[in-house]
Amino acid sequence: MPNRAATSKKQKPESSEAYHQSYEESDGWLTRTGAVARVIYWGIHAACLLVFVVGAPLPAVLLCVATYFVRLLGITGGYHRYFSHKSYKTGRIFQFVIAWIGCSATQKGPLWWAGNHRRHHRFSDQEGDPHSPKHGWYHSHQGWIFDSRWEGTPEDVIKDFARYPELVWLNRNHWVPPLVLGILCGLIAGLPGVVWGFAISTTLLWHATYSVNSLAHIWGKRRYETGDTSRNNLWIALATCGEGWHNNHHYYQAAARNGFFWWEIDVTWYVLKALSWVGLVWDLREPSEAVKQGRPGKPRLARAA
Ligand SMILES: [Zn+2]
Ligand SMILES: [Zn+2]
Repeated sequence: MPNRAATSKKQKPESSEAYHQSYEESDGWLTRTGAVARVIYWGIHAACLLVFVVGAPLPAVLLCVATYFVRLLGITGGYHRYFSHKSYKTGRIFQFVIAWIGCSATQKGPLWWAGNHRRHHRFSDQEGDPHSPKHGWYHSHQGWIFDSRWEGTPEDVIKDFARYPELVWLNRNHWVPPLVLGILCGLIAGLPGVVWGFAISTTLLWHATYSVNSLAHIWGKRRYETGDTSRNNLWIALATCGEGWHNNHHYYQAAARNGFFWWEIDVTWYVLKALSWVGLVWDLREPSEAVKQGRPGKPRLARAA
């Protein structure tokens, strides 16, 4: 049975000229499923092996820690909690800054990422969910990324941010921030800087992010009845700055915090709170006591305005 996701003009796995023109308008020349993207993806994995050549000099390892956590926060606090769920507000300049940082994680552009994530929530574990583990662990972890059904930016669900030309530009030229970061790592710490600060950091970041889509729907506890397979998992929360409280998140997506209780460690929330103290972000949404006790009313889905 066809669904909205599968029938969107940007999601058709056809090779017509019109489709490719349309794809290039919003996603640029670098497709997600083509040979170049696959070579880049697996090439960055393979480049991690250069660690046996360059060793582990301290500046390069520290660079890896920094690029891992800063870009992870760009994904969790930016791509996820801001662009996908609008769980807080910020100004136009900082909006672009967090989009750039998120984009440097080499997970494609903000409109593509957030649009497909909105689909994940709208069709959780049903037909139309880009990465449900019901289609196998590998598919939910990284197989879906190379699935042509989810290749194009789903413009119909991300219209609210697609009205900003700078975000459209970034979405189309999503390869620029990773390239800039790779060059900077080389300038800062030479080849070990590129291996640690870009290749190893990016690979770890990919699999930490993807584990939220795969493992956090398989491994962990369910506090709330959500109608999907989402779970809460401390270990994933620690690796992903708080995204492992995924059952909480599926239960109440509007919140800027995924750890609902003080003992649920959520570093992204702490950082967003600190940013609010200096005025860079504001109107952070929190779950009410009723939500935490399991009486959320109607969950608010992020929708294109
Ligand atoms: Zn989400
Ligand atoms: Zn999920």
